[in-house]
Amino acid sequence: ILISLCGGLMLVAGFLGYLFAGRAMIPITRAFKKLREFTADASHELRAPLTVMKASVEVVQEHEDLLPPFHREALRTAKAEVGRMAELVDHLLTLARSDAGMIELQREKVDAVQLVQESTRTMRAAASMNGVSVQVHDAPAGNAEALTAEASLIADRKRIKQLMIILIDNAIKYNVPGGTVELNVRADGNLVAIAVKDSGIGIAAEDLPNIFDRFYRADKSRDRSQGGTGLGLSIAQWIVSAHGGSMTVESELGVGSTFTVQLPTSA
Ligand code: ADP
Repeated sequence: ILISLCGGLMLVAGFLGYLFAGRAMIPITRAFKKLREFTADASHELRAPLTVMKASVEVVQEHEDLLPPFHREALRTAKAEVGRMAELVDHLLTLARSDAGMIELQREKVDAVQLVQESTRTMRAAASMNGVSVQVHDAPAGNAEALTAEASLIADRKRIKQLMIILIDNAIKYNVPGGTVELNVRADGNLVAIAVKDSGIGIAAEDLPNIFDRFYRADKSRDRSQGGTGLGLSIAQWIVSAHGGSMTVESELGVGSTFTVQLPTSA
């Protein structure tokens, strides 16, 4: 009798727990949804005034020779900070929209080698400003056609380019003058692997597990001087997962880092 009584009580307790937990979950889910919508709306609303501010600063900058040196300097700082804020708002908007499931991938046939080369070209100016050289290693001579055929993805071209730019940008930013960035594309069965290897400052072992977290930056003081938002790798991670792929990182302080993305060739 005692056993069946205990069993009955547990059943009732379980049912009540289910009921209350279930009820509590609804407002929490709703609150999270509202928070995500708020972040997306706020980021969106912040974009317009930032665009106006940027344009205004640029207009004044066109006549900066009329300004005293102190004001010129202030103008440059304002421009850099407006640019940083615009990047932050863009990154926040992307993450808020992806959290809310508001971004749909626009899949099409994408040639991975070509896309990597295109992304590299976009980043050439930034690389030379930092004294860093960027190279793409694809297939050995004679094999280029075979690789192009094997390394074609059914993916969102814009998002994969965004992913590549985040990784190349980091490989340049966290590099040393005279350093290198090497990109390697490999087709491996039904996967395409893209590696971004740099000869930069590297990442300490204790920071490695956290670098994909939002706003995490390995060495705060060092990274501030390099700009950045601390959201790039979170966006990169989202793009990779949305495509059903994976990303790994290997790094050694003072030697460099390699980020490798693996993407399935079909959706
Ligand atoms: P950030 O805007 O700061 O670059 P990310 O999310 O892209 O933000 O990167 C998070 C942190 O990971 C960076 O602040 C930096 O400390 C570290 N990191 C990312 N990529 C590299 C790299 N290639 N070499 C060294 N450190 C890196």
